[in-house]
Formats: sequence, structure tokens, C-alpha cells
Amino acid sequence: NATLEQADKEVFDIIENELKRQTNHLEMIASENFTSPAVMEAMGSVFTNKYAEGYPYKRYYGGCEFADAVEQLAIDRACEIFGCSYANVQPHSGSQANGAVYAALINAGDRILGMDLSHGGHLTHGSKPSFSGKNYSAFYYGVELDGRINYDKVMEIAKVCQPKIIVCGASAYAREIDFKKFREIADSVGAILFADIAHIAGLVAANEHMSPFPYAHVVTTTTHKTLRGPRGGMIMTNDEEIAKKINSAIFPGIQGGPLVHVIAAKAVAFKEILDPAWKDYAKQVKVNIKVLADVLIKRGYDLVSGGTDNHLVLVSFLNKPFSGKDADAALGNAGITVNKNTVPGETRSPFVTSGIRIGSPALTARGMKEKEFEIIANKICDVLDNIEDTVLHAKINKELEELASGFVIYNKSTY
Ligand code: PLP
Repeated sequence: NATLEQADKEVFDIIENELKRQTNHLEMIASENFTSPAVMEAMGSVFTNKYAEGYPYKRYYGGCEFADAVEQLAIDRACEIFGCSYANVQPHSGSQANGAVYAALINAGDRILGMDLSHGGHLTHGSKPSFSGKNYSAFYYGVELDGRINYDKVMEIAKVCQPKIIVCGASAYAREIDFKKFREIADSVGAILFADIAHIAGLVAANEHMSPFPYAHVVTTTTHKTLRGPRGGMIMTNDEEIAKKINSAIFPGIQGGPLVHVIAAKAVAFKEILDPAWKDYAKQVKVNIKVLADVLIKRGYDLVSGGTDNHLVLVSFLNKPFSGKDADAALGNAGITVNKNTVPGETRSPFVTSGIRIGSPALTARGMKEKEFEIIANKICDVLDNIEDTVLHAKINKELEELASGFVIYNKSTY
């Protein structure tokens, strides 16, 4: 029963360094967040030892009574949060969840219509390097130069390509997604509507974003972004036939034994989301990013679509002499972690890009509010205004470390 430090000092030290990085830097990657120690404790539990192929009360292994109990709890809580009838909490990731949806509902070579990766969609929405672009015949819609989805145009594209599945949801889209309009489009061509709410699920859970139910036939999400749970995925539906197909597609279709320790951690995260305090968190996520957006606009930076309805902004440098890659690196040196991102009308390669994506979920989870976001937004502009001034970046790094030290996330690296 040696501790991690005693058993493996090398790994222990690396994890300690990661804790320091997460503590000292300002995490503004829109898809990241901080889970609670309780979630991490469940994830580090004895359930990591258990095989539980199958589903609650229908397993292929003995000794599953407690795995059943915890998975059923996770399912019930997920259904309560999103107001749906069926949830599969076994996907190891968001990509696995999406893979299972296609595998369950269409055949190889069938047509799908999703959001273009370079316009904010995800790899699994039909992008060529992903299984979704390799195994299916993928067509794409995007955003207009104003940074918004034009639903009439999506309808036109759908009518031409006649997809079996329309995927809506995005990784880098700052505006509300209108699931009702997407359903009208899907109905007009007889397609299944598949909503991937990975980015916005935490807002949907708090009624701070339109729900995909009752419009989408099937909904997927990751559990580690705005939901603040462990890394993983989930699939939901109100349709019994779809639910059965999805279950078979996950196991035995594309996965083996479920990660019961992660499912236990999902259950813990879902309990946190069912607490009334979740609404305050989701509201604050939106308030904080608006404060940041306003400062950036005031200081002369272009936001794709001119602002935000959710938890992120996309900043465009099309009219600046530096790239998204330059901005990402300079902000990194100043202690602010973001990611470079393509923008509508992109002129640079996807490895360089003309934009960055900034999100508020993680810092909001640390307890930061309007005051801190205003300070941070101004520091971001100071860095961008002086993109080559490495002395200034180092100075800002120190100041922000000081700011971050007032918002402790974890007392130790493992729970
Ligand atoms: N769907 C969307 C919209 C995403 O943004 C992501 C991840 O960034 C995923 C799916 C995939 O999730 P994972 O990284 O867990 O496979």
C-alpha cells in the first residue's frame, strides 16, 4: 500500500508539476475545466479493477452488483439533468459517442451533413482524417462571413446532398445553436437530427442554452468540458428503438468493458449539476465571457460574429500582422493558455491560423468573476498589442500568477 510518491517518484513529480501548471497558469481553453476533488476521488477508486461488459443488471461478468448500482445512478441523473428517457454513460470519449451514433443509425458510405471543421465543427462531424469522413460520405455547411450559421443555406445544402444524418453542434461557435431550425431542416429531407452538445452541455443543463430536446433524435456530449466531470462521453435519446441500437453500437460494437471508475465519477459530477448552485455557475460562465468580449472589442479586436451567446469567443486577427499561432505563443508566455483557431475567411494554414479561441468555464470554476475577467481581458490585449515584447509577457506572467494564487483549485495533486 505504498503511496504514489513512494511507489513511483518520477510519475509523482510529473503530476505535481502538472498541478503547478494548472494552478499558476490561467486556463482559458474553451473545452477544458476543473473537476471537483470528489469527482477525482471516484475516478481513482477500486472500480478501476472491475470488468462489467454489458449494461446494468445484464452483464457478462459476475460481481457487478455495485457497478450496476453506480451506472444506473449515472443514467438516472443524466436523464434528470437533460430531461430525456435514455442515456448511455459508457462512451470513453466524445469521439466514441459520436462513432457509436453513426454505427447505430446508418451504414458505411451513407451521406452525413455536418459543420465544416475549419468553420467550427468537430473532426467527428465528417472531417476527412476522422473515421466520420472516411467511413461515410460527408457533406458540410459552415458559417457566413458574419460568423453565423445561415439556416436557409443549410436547408439548401441538405436538399442537394440528401443526408441520412444531419449533425449540429460545434467546437468553436460563439452563438446559440437553433435546434428547432435544424429539426425543420432534417424533417424536410427525412434525415435523423444528431446534436453534439459537447461544448455547451453545462449551459444546456442550466437552461442557459436552448435544449436539443425535443428536437434532436439523438444527442451526444463529452462530460469533461462545461459539464465539469471526468473525461468521457455520453449519448442520450427519447426514442426506445434508437436507444437499443446505440447500446449495441457502444458495446459490443465499438467498445469492450466500460470504465466503471469513470462512470462513478460521471455520477458524482451529475449530482453536482443537479444542485441549484449549478445554475449560478453556468450564468457566471456567460457573464464572465461577455465581460472579456466587451474589453476586447473596446480595445480594437474583432470577434467572430461580433460577440458571444455562450462560453467562448473567437478572436480574429485577419486584420492584424500576426497569426493565431503567434498570439497563442505570446499569451502562453504570459501565463494564459488558449488555442489558435481558424476563422471565417481564413487566409493562413490550419497550423498557423488567424484566430484564437478563448473560454471562461475553467476560470469560472476557480471562482473568478467579472472583476478578474476584466483584468485578464486587459492583460490579453496588452500582450496582443505588444506581441513581440517578451519582457512585458514575462512581467504579465508574474502578475497573473499572483492573481491566480488567490483562487486555489486543489490542495493536492491526487485524491
Ligand atoms: N464533439 C465536440 C463538439 C467537441 O468539441 C469534441 C472535443 O473537442 C468532441 C466531440 C470529442 O470529444 P473527445 O475529445 O472526448 O473525443
